[in-house]
Parts: sequence; structure tokens; C-alpha cells
Amino acid sequence: MREKIRILILEDNAADAELVQRELEKAGLSFVASIVAAKWEFLQQLDVFDPDIILSDYKLPGFDGISAMRVAVARKPEIPFIFVTGEMGEERAIDTLKEGATDYVLKQRLARLGPAVERALAEVEEKSQRRRAEENYRTVFETTGTAMCVLGEDSVVLSANRGFERLLGYAVGEPEPEVRFKQVVSRDGSEVEDFYRYHREVLSGGGTDPVFFKTRVVHRDGRTLDVLASMGRLPGTRNSVLSLIDVTREKKFEGELKERAERLRDFLTVASHEIRHPITVIKGYTEMLEDVDIEIPEDMVADIYASMDDAADRLIRIVTELMDMSLIENDGIELDMTSCEMKELVLEAATDKRGWRADRHVEVEVLSDPGLATVDRVRFMYVLDELLDNADKYSPEGSPVSVTLEARAGIALVSVLDRGPGIPESDRERVFERFYQVEDALNHSQPGMGLGLYIVKQLLDAQGGKIWYEPRDGGGSAFRFSIPK
Ligand code: ADP
Repeated sequence: MREKIRILILEDNAADAELVQRELEKAGLSFVASIVAAKWEFLQQLDVFDPDIILSDYKLPGFDGISAMRVAVARKPEIPFIFVTGEMGEERAIDTLKEGATDYVLKQRLARLGPAVERALAEVEEKSQRRRAEENYRTVFETTGTAMCVLGEDSVVLSANRGFERLLGYAVGEPEPEVRFKQVVSRDGSEVEDFYRYHREVLSGGGTDPVFFKTRVVHRDGRTLDVLASMGRLPGTRNSVLSLIDVTREKKFEGELKERAERLRDFLTVASHEIRHPITVIKGYTEMLEDVDIEIPEDMVADIYASMDDAADRLIRIVTELMDMSLIENDGIELDMTSCEMKELVLEAATDKRGWRADRHVEVEVLSDPGLATVDRVRFMYVLDELLDNADKYSPEGSPVSVTLEARAGIALVSVLDRGPGIPESDRERVFERFYQVEDALNHSQPGMGLGLYIVKQLLDAQGGKIWYEPRDGGGSAFRFSIPK
């Protein structure tokens, strides 16, 4: 409020205007007044003088109080308009109040003027405070990151904020009045039923304490979102405020964490089993060889040493895989890139068949010679060995394994092909994940910890390559990888 009240007085009688001002001074009001009698002056001062309140005579020559009031109410509805008149009947006075006047004071009872002005100004102040508070709440409602809406008793969305629009894809105000919130709630499980239960609870409860619940809602584009909801009653109404926080990402992350923990648990079981097996073999044979009471036929000794050697190789392989994994996860892979003849590496890998089934036949086919490519030779051989070992491990005795090499635009393409059981479609991407083993592999007909293909993929990624799986025509697996030339 300004220091002095600015009062616009519409009065053609100077003596009456004087009287009015005296009365206001008597009431202790601190004010400045502008006295006008003509219409043009009134209109001009409405803008220029910018009054806080208007006091107007009812009858004026050439311009009447009623017209003045109509203009003022239309242009400046927030400014209180009080008639100060000697000749307004009770009925007329009530009509003017209906049309927008704030009050009227009879000139015969001017003592009422001071309190009437004070009351009118207090009302203006109160209204503007209320408006400011409403604006503040509106701003909070609009700017909060939380999606919020007001629901009618029948779950119709009466109003919604921008957060609601962002979350569910409905423009603000657009759902109104046709969309019922239950239409937005997912229909997959018991969500709709639960929503109604909570809504009833909120409406039947006496207080305004909100209820909190988890639910799922469907975005306009069809995506289902996990949300945390809170719903509370708007005091004095049958409406409620509903706010929603999107926790879809957190929920997904939680699921992933759970799955990782489960996989780590499985891995520990698998890894301890994998390590235990060769140790048992070595320990068993060592004890047998040391036992003087056991006579071992000469021709068996060589087999025993070969089995112990295989078991030791197996242990070395396990430890190497674990060390590789730790290197990949902790320090990253350091590469020693050199230019290598692809054909030479492929042929070398295919001839080193240590530990393979005796009847395994490996074919190498150079479909087109890519020539040189820059790779880390040791890591490249590791990749090929791992894929060939898997082909041997997972395909039946006697069936052939083949490797093809071809030159494609800017890359060398290597494929390792077998006639084994292949990999089910749902596992094809996942076999390259850490610890991932196809369900069947978990019953341990074959050794392995689900690390081989993971390491292979990481090593190829580091060399700018790519690996993928394809089911092979006529049955079996085709693991293919590319290396930039
Ligand atoms: P592991 O060391 O346990 O074999 P890998 O990461 O090398 O782990 O392989 C992951 C899974 O992919 C294995 O559990 C196996 O089921 C499947 N797999 C890998 N290579 C083949 C293949 N050539 N044929 C069929 N399944 C395969």
C-alpha cells in the first residue's frame, strides 16, 4: 500500500467536495485527493492519478454517477467505487451494489464515510493478498518437477500441471473433462482396483493426510511407467490432489542390480566348481603316485601324467580368464597393435588343436584374402582360440568345425562355424555378457565360467572390431567378427 491513499472524487459541488475531504481527515485518513466534475477529467484521472479508491456523487450535470461507475468497473475493477450522495433511494442503492459499486454513503450521514473507505481499502488489500497467495501456489504447482493433478470425486482430471503433461503426454487442461485418471492407470495387474481403493480411502477419511502407493501409469504413447503416487483430499471439497513421481528408471536399475547380484552368486558357485574339479584330479593322482602300496601299471603312468597336465592347463585357463576379467574391469586393456597377415594368424590358430577332441577336423577357407590388418597379435589369437575351443566344446564328436576368412569393405571378416546345438534366440545377445551361460551350460556337462565370450567381445571392442552370433544354415553356430583393416 502507498504512503498516502489516492482518492479520486467525482463531485460538481465544491462545498460538498470540501465536506467529504474534511470528513476523511476527521477519520484520521492520510490521503491526497483529485476532484473532478466532467466526464473527460474523470476518465483522464482514472489513468493519470491512478486512484486507490473512487468517491462519486450520484447526480452530476452532463455525466452521472452510474455511468462513471460502469466505466470504472469495466476499466479498473480492482478499485473500490463508493457513492456519496444525498438522493439515492434504498432500492437504487442496492442495484448499484449489484452492478459493482462497493458501498454507498448518504451525505446526511457523512460520518460513515471514513469507516466505509477504510473497510473498502482493507478488502482490496485482503483480496490482493489472497490473489498473491493463489499465484504463489499456482507457481509451485506449475514449476514443481512432480506431476500433479486435481481429481474430481469420479476420478476426472479437473486440472493438471506441466509435470503431469511431461510425465503422461497429455497437454495441460486437455484431459479435462473427459479423461478419468483410472484410464491412465495401467490395466495389467490390480492397479485400477488399487487406485479406486486408495481414492475411496482418501474421500472417506476425515483428515487431509495423504495416502502413498506405488502404481503404474500408461503414457499417451503407450509406454508403461512405474510411479510413486500420493493422494490427499482438498479441504472442504470432494476433490483430491494426486502427485506422481516417475521411478521407472530406478525400478529398472533395481531389477538390474538384483539380476547382477544373482549372476554373481551363480558365478561364484560355477567358478568354485570349475576350480575344484582339476584340483581334485591333480590331488587324487598325486596321492596315488605317492602311495607305495599301489602298484601302477607302466602303461597307465603316461595317461595319469597327461590327465594331470590337462587339469593343470584347465587351472591355468581359469586363472587367465579371471585375470583378464579383472584387467578389463579395473585397468582397461593395453594393446600392442602391429600390422599382421590375417591369413597367417587364422591358419596358425586352426592348427593349434591342443586339448581338442581327437577326432575333430578343422577346415580353413579363405574366401577372399583381406591381407594385412592392424591388431594386437596375442589378443587376436586369444579371440580365435576361444571361439575355436567353444566350437570344439559345444559340438558333437566327429562333426567338422570351419573357419572362413574374407575381405569386406574396410574390414577383415572371420567366421567360426560348427554343427553343434546352436544358441537359442533369447540368449544370442546375452552370451557376450559377463558370467552369462546358456541355461543348459549351467548343468556343467562342459567346463566354463561364462567369461570366454565376454572377454572376446571386450578384446575385439578394444581393437575396433565387432562380434556377433548368427544361427548357421543347416544347424549349428556361426560366430563372426570383423576387424578394421
Ligand atoms: P563358457 O566359458 O562357460 O563356455 P562363454 O562365454 O565362452 O562361456 O560362452 C557362453 C555360453 O555360450 C556358453 O554357456 C554356451 O552355452 C554358449 N556357447 C558358446 N559357444 C557356443 C557354441 N559354439 N555353440 C553353442 N553354444 C555356445
